[in-house]
Amino acid sequence: MKTFTYRTATSLDEGLEPGATFLAGGTNLVDLMKLGVATPDVLVDVTKLPLDEVSDRPDGGLRIGAGVRNSDLAVHPRVRQDYPVLSQALLAGASGQLRNMATTAGNLLQRTRCRYFMDATMPCNKHEPGSGCPAQEGDHRNLAILGGSPSCIATHPSDMAVALTALDAVVQTDRRSLALGDLYVLPGSTPEQETVLSHGELITSVDLPDPRGKSAYRKVRDRASYAFAVGSVAAVLRVDDGTVADVRLAFGAVAPKPWRAYRAEEALRGRPATRSSFLEAADAELAAATPLRDNAYKITLIRNLVASVLEGLA
Ligand code: SF4
Repeated sequence: MKTFTYRTATSLDEGLEPGATFLAGGTNLVDLMKLGVATPDVLVDVTKLPLDEVSDRPDGGLRIGAGVRNSDLAVHPRVRQDYPVLSQALLAGASGQLRNMATTAGNLLQRTRCRYFMDATMPCNKHEPGSGCPAQEGDHRNLAILGGSPSCIATHPSDMAVALTALDAVVQTDRRSLALGDLYVLPGSTPEQETVLSHGELITSVDLPDPRGKSAYRKVRDRASYAFAVGSVAAVLRVDDGTVADVRLAFGAVAPKPWRAYRAEEALRGRPATRSSFLEAADAELAAATPLRDNAYKITLIRNLVASVLEGLA
């Protein structure tokens, strides 16, 4: 591992020197440093900052501090009662030990687990812009079918971020507010750029609006625990008299960012809350999918997940 300097942040506005990066739970960053994929000169530990509270908001929503541990958030009484999609997504992620360390902001900012990205000896446009994307012809079974580009088809690995996307979460930084969907950028020709955050910009909290329906998260993975999703769906649904009054849907493990399924939502509003409507809505979203040789199975997987999750909620 490359030698680095470590210091503890003492205030929210102290910023970052060039070559420095924030350290929170370290469950992803430290792994990447050991692999030689992340090579910061300075780690600035933000875990002593006062960012570990979950509090009610005046509008009925919830403010989640950036430093709240995933395990604490998953069992918070209001999260369990009003935002079950978030609790379920958190508990579906990683392992108990990792959730005890991982934080809200760190979870949002974790990096892809594309095998070429995780191997510092391989070419990869995220490591070294212009070096190529071996996943296009190589191992892409678990990579993107939506939102990718010839430069990169990595998937975002978070479960929590998929739930937060369906909940219309807003990210607060020390400089601005951002809808969660606007935090991430698609790879295009610059896959090394993953978010709109500037160097030294610190996520301070994530705000949830008041709960607006029943919600659920379902994750499919290759083994029953401690595995990343091969596909997941987060849904918030409100049905009045058998008709879809409101719906918000997000897909995980199919795109470089948590994928908000706006086309599916539009296709569903005002329609009967039936399996056939749910499948048609999924088809409307997945029509834009561009699978490669080994990941077309995700289209069927997500289609069936959407119908299953929405039927359960309806
Ligand atoms: Fe690198 Fe992205 Fe290609 Fe994976 S998919 S090898 S992360 S450029």
